[in-house]
Amino acid sequence: MRVPFLDLAPALDRDAPLIAGAVSRVVQRGQLVLGPEVVAFESAFADFNHARHCVAVGNGFDALCLMLQAATVGPGDEVIVPANTYIATWLAVSATGARVVPVDPDEDMFNLDPAAVEMAMTAKTKAVLAVHLYGGCAKMDLLQTVCEARGVYLLADAAQAAGTSLRGRPCGALGMASAFSFYPTKNLGALGDGGAVVTDSDELAERIRLARNYGSRAKDVHVVKGRNSRLDEIQAAILLDRLRQFPKEQARRREIALKYRTRLSDVPGIRLPTGDLEDHAWHLFTVRVDARHRDRLRSQLSEVGIGTGIYYPVPPHQQAAYMDEISTMPALPVAERLAAEIRSLPLNATMTDDHAEAVIAAVRSCAAKCAD
Ligand SMILES: *Cc1c(COP(=O)(O)O)cnc(C)c1O
Repeated sequence: MRVPFLDLAPALDRDAPLIAGAVSRVVQRGQLVLGPEVVAFESAFADFNHARHCVAVGNGFDALCLMLQAATVGPGDEVIVPANTYIATWLAVSATGARVVPVDPDEDMFNLDPAAVEMAMTAKTKAVLAVHLYGGCAKMDLLQTVCEARGVYLLADAAQAAGTSLRGRPCGALGMASAFSFYPTKNLGALGDGGAVVTDSDELAERIRLARNYGSRAKDVHVVKGRNSRLDEIQAAILLDRLRQFPKEQARRREIALKYRTRLSDVPGIRLPTGDLEDHAWHLFTVRVDARHRDRLRSQLSEVGIGTGIYYPVPPHQQAAYMDEISTMPALPVAERLAAEIRSLPLNATMTDDHAEAVIAAVRSCAAKCAD
């Protein structure tokens, strides 16, 4: 049995009637940008996160940039970010003119370590941008304490984290604001690009609302130098309908993750996710393998039809894009070690039990061979 690492076709197949219904609703109404579907989705996604506001924007990167700018992050400021994230987190900070200050993650959840964050703070630190990597919630309560003591804003890159909670509180309700992505491969995906900022702050939400639409609240009145980052009505309609079935999909992801966790716990040479996994959204199920065996494991799994992925093989500080800042950065040995050891197994809501069994059997037998 073949199990591709990522195949969106089954979800598109399953949702074909939902998508057709959403598209036809919008087409019949004839309003294609900033209309009732966006308003309805914003309200539903704010409720889903137990937050006051959701402002839908063009994509996850814009959500990050607009959130940072609304929090007045800009030139001269420093923003603390995890060293092991998708480069978009860093690029958004750089796009505001602020400087990224990377810190190594903790090794249980692969997320920001509050003690390391505190050590990295300087008089220039304006914000901490936590990432809920793989769908696991960062330690937002401890980070909040550290940030409050220093008058620093706590923001979150929740691009991988729709459906994540921290002891029952949805991640969108934590910190000052959270940026989400609805890129098609995310847990809650659109049929193209999409993003949103979720916040309890009236002021922040209003600033982002203005900034996403040329600084305009009313036609021909431009109160700030905004830009264009709007979510289409069609994407909003699809997201609104997909959000209704989202809790069921998340439950399925958790079921498969639990299968992996119980059935792979005794496999030699494979380290499973650890930490507080109670409300994990399982965007990715990432294991650690001895760096010497990782590529062998990939090729053996691939031979028996099981796809895997690496998120991310090269940390941002080792990318050419950040070579000009490398002299200002600390050593980041944990991020570098993780990049050499991580591998993600297939996990999505449309996988069958047979798919999961095939992954488990293949990992067990390949790991045994690798350990020889
Ligand atoms: C996907 C992702 C983004 C960017 O979202 P886009 O919608 O693709 O712009 C940012 N941060 C992280 C951690 C992501 O996984």
